[in-house]
Amino acid sequence: MVYLVGAGPGDPGLITVRGLECLARAEVVVADRLVSAALLERVPAGCELVVRGSRRELNQEAIHRLLVERASAGKVVVRLKGGDPFIFGRGGEEAEVLAAAHIPFMVVPGVTAALGMSACAGIPLTQRGVAAGVVLATGHEMEEGDTLELDWHTLADSALTAVLYMSVGRIESTLGRLMAAGRDPATPAAVVVHGSLPTQRVVRGTIRDLATRAREAGVQPPALVVVAEVVRRSQAIAWFEQRPLAGKRLLVLAEREEIRTLDELGLSVEWVAPFEFELQPDALVPAVREIGRYGAVAFTSRRSVQAFAQALDRAGLDGRALAGCKIACLAGGTGEALFRELRLRAELTASDGGRALGQAILDAGIRTRVLFPRAAGGRKELPDLLAAAGVPVDRIDCYLSRPRQEALASIAKTQRDRPFDAIAFASPRGVAELFAQLDGGLGSALVGAIGKTTEQALRERSVSSVIVPEQPSVPRLVEQLVEALRSR
Ligand code: SAH
Repeated sequence: MVYLVGAGPGDPGLITVRGLECLARAEVVVADRLVSAALLERVPAGCELVVRGSRRELNQEAIHRLLVERASAGKVVVRLKGGDPFIFGRGGEEAEVLAAAHIPFMVVPGVTAALGMSACAGIPLTQRGVAAGVVLATGHEMEEGDTLELDWHTLADSALTAVLYMSVGRIESTLGRLMAAGRDPATPAAVVVHGSLPTQRVVRGTIRDLATRAREAGVQPPALVVVAEVVRRSQAIAWFEQRPLAGKRLLVLAEREEIRTLDELGLSVEWVAPFEFELQPDALVPAVREIGRYGAVAFTSRRSVQAFAQALDRAGLDGRALAGCKIACLAGGTGEALFRELRLRAELTASDGGRALGQAILDAGIRTRVLFPRAAGGRKELPDLLAAAGVPVDRIDCYLSRPRQEALASIAKTQRDRPFDAIAFASPRGVAELFAQLDGGLGSALVGAIGKTTEQALRERSVSSVIVPEQPSVPRLVEQLVEALRSR
């Protein structure tokens, strides 16, 4: 099966529900270059991902072969295309190839760039009394041998909005042809670059002067040229740029979590997980089988909770096994994971790191053996504190974590070229790993830390002003940074 899916105009929120469903069950994804990275993150683990780099690396015929091959091998294939598959995307050709090869396929429509741009630049494509219709066209012959010529006189009709795809490279000749065909040179026109994306830019002018203005503004593709009376009114309804945090960027150094949508503020949030994890629940199974030996179990990370939950499962047990055992757990994300994975609530909690949690265990008078599932090579504050008080602790390494060096290097590069407005750190190790790659520091970014230990790691690197939420959770931290950005 092949799904030809429209990914929308750039903003990952503008894919359809069905498109996302297809993505969730894909075994092979063949994506266009313009498809948002945030959508590619949703590709399921283990799925083959082919991103079309440049035309030369993977030409159209190679894509056709790939689709047919993978689908014939029984794979669920998603062909993810920018905008809508059937608008200047060669989706029609791909569908023809699949039909000829008797491969079943479905087409999932997408928001084409013209519609995304129209909504986000405040340029209604039709308007009562102003624009009676719209033409989506390209002035650019895509391939050699593509000889189909537009009748430019159609586009000269002053009652029509013309949206021209793939035209910025030849904007001068495109607008020249429109004038030659008789469209009034004083007609308002605009170039919309990166429509619907946080980097969206709109350059306004008239048919006569737009090419010069676009050149002066250094406009680069992807961009659309819009010619229409309605462009004149667009500034009044340019809601996109008027949002309070439009164009501002927040980097969250953590795995993506559900947060309240920030679209209405215009803030773009980039999630980068600084580590990759490998759970090793088998290491915990023997301890879980003898959980009765322990007076308490202590959790200081979501992963240790997840590994523990899997170990319980592998031992054929469930949360009731912990009935006789106290649970100590860091508040915030770790506590939420405990509730989510096992529907358990901890009786002992602390919010400022392992040491404080160890202290909570001592304060509760627990002197029997404590089980501490943790990361290989993880922090030792909690076991050290307990051991010093004579409480025996079994530390069991139940997951590995490795820094994602490439992702961290790419953040460091972005920070150098286009600094973030705010950065959220979710662990002291995240701080250490990013600083190892940074050369210019954090600039004027607002800085947030999930808790005291992370804050400490930042202070050790001379970051003096750090925002720390009351509850150590990523959504809380993001909320506080958003507040701070708004009042900045
Ligand atoms: N199938 C796509 C179009 C592919 S052709 C769709 O339906 O949108 C690629 C052209 O689309 C680019 O050259 C540019 O003209 C336009 N385009 C794509 N994304 C765009 C965006 N976010 N903003 C402005 N133009 C865009």
